[in-house]
Amino acid sequence: MSGTEQPVGQDQHRRTEVVIVGGGFAGIACAKRLSTEPRTHVTLLDRTGYHQFQPLLYQVATAELAASDIRFDLSSMFHRHAHIDVRTAEVVSVDPGAGMVSLADGTSLAADTLVLGVGAQPNFFRTPGADQHAVPLYSLDDADRVRRRLLDLFRDAAEKPERAEDGTLTFVIVGAGPTGVETAGAVAELVHNVMPHVYPHLATAGARVILVDLGHTVLGAFSDEAHTYAVKQLQRRGVELRLGVSVTGVEEDRLTLGDGTTIKTHLVVWGGGEMAAPLAFRSGLGQGRGGRIDVRPDLTVEGFPRVYALGDVANIPGPDGEALPQLGSVAQQAGHWAGGNIIAGLEGGGRQPFHYNDKGIMAMIGRKAAVAEFGAHRHELNGRFAFAAWLGVHAQLLANTGAEVKAFLAWAEDFYVRPAHRSAALLDPGNADKPRIDWNSAE
Ligand SMILES: Cc1cc2nc3c(=O)[nH]c(=O)nc-3n(C[C@H](O)[C@H](O)[C@H](O)COP(=O)(O)OP(=O)(O)OC[C@H]3O[C@@H](n4cnc5c(N)ncnc54)[C@H](O)[C@@H]3O)c2cc1C
Repeated sequence: MSGTEQPVGQDQHRRTEVVIVGGGFAGIACAKRLSTEPRTHVTLLDRTGYHQFQPLLYQVATAELAASDIRFDLSSMFHRHAHIDVRTAEVVSVDPGAGMVSLADGTSLAADTLVLGVGAQPNFFRTPGADQHAVPLYSLDDADRVRRRLLDLFRDAAEKPERAEDGTLTFVIVGAGPTGVETAGAVAELVHNVMPHVYPHLATAGARVILVDLGHTVLGAFSDEAHTYAVKQLQRRGVELRLGVSVTGVEEDRLTLGDGTTIKTHLVVWGGGEMAAPLAFRSGLGQGRGGRIDVRPDLTVEGFPRVYALGDVANIPGPDGEALPQLGSVAQQAGHWAGGNIIAGLEGGGRQPFHYNDKGIMAMIGRKAAVAEFGAHRHELNGRFAFAAWLGVHAQLLANTGAEVKAFLAWAEDFYVRPAHRSAALLDPGNADKPRIDWNSAE
């Protein structure tokens, strides 16, 4: 692909070949925007073949949802669109100048326009042992690993109660941003409110959930009121906070902190940071903070007007010049906008700078506890109102996948008011893969 506006080899009878790498929020939204544009032929590549709805991974990790509830098959999503091909394939390298992507099976694909929406990967900040012994929460496989480990450890403790001394029932979550806070809240509810109903004879009073962060607050990006609210809600759920201290090492059976403390544990969940997905490091494109690809306001990469980078893999400039946060709504809106810019290019129009419609920031700390902040002045809500806002934003994100939003709303409402102990039934091994969201109920 040349650095000019003219796509290589494009003539007026041929459809513009758009290759989208990544079926996350950004990739899907871009493909959807192009789904009504017959002058394009779109190939959507994803290494898993499905979309994983990351905002609810912690619910899968704590057995409140089955993996199938948040896994959306990409082929089914686009089967009605003849000019969109979905392929399960891993892209191993990119040649942005030539508009080529190379696949793990040794083949390659040529594009007139290339869209990179490959997301993020955990950043362990070179913490010794973390990549080997801590479990991140970025994929359904990760969530499944956390769920299995939690349940196995309880089973072990039930069989050998003396093992509690070895940290069998001590669970550590690293990172007090939204992912860590939501996970800590959910694990604490599972440990303190659900498990006693599964193992009544087991003294889960000895079980601990510890949230560690180098910063001195939880939900650092939120207001002081939100910090106070979140701390209170976490502590009410029995979460111990270890703030202002770094993690200096993770081993199979322990975690060490910068203050010299050692915590015996067999499960460390890493929500401690993220960086661009590996493909960004093999793209030859300019990378900025977090290894993310720097993009221009119109979402293309400097020097490559037909290469877009979107969502978590990109540093997208916001109105104040700072990069926008790594959020589903940023990725989704950027995908839609990039699709619009691709169409504008077909019509000989100019690409427009991306305008982000800020939906605010929010986190669900547990049942009956959520926090949300909106607008330029970060108007703050908590409790039931914040939950309503959380529902609205997540319903909109889910709608992107074509999922039946009413069914999700019904499940979420039930989850929010359902007493925790009722979740004990979900822990029956026979129920692990049974969908919790009744997608057919809304038909
Ligand atoms: C635990 C967790 C909770 C979150 N909660 C919220 C929330 O409540 N609200 C919110 O707004 N945001 C939330 N986020 C952030 C949000 O999920 C991300 O910002 C969003 O998923 C980014 O979308 P994306 O399309 O850029 O990437 P992703 O959704 O990560 O999708 C990337 C896709 O690319 C594919 N891929 C990667 N590399 C390759 C390759 N080499 N070849 C082929 N395919 C590849 C992957 O399989 C994946 O399907 C959360 C994130 C996490 C991890």
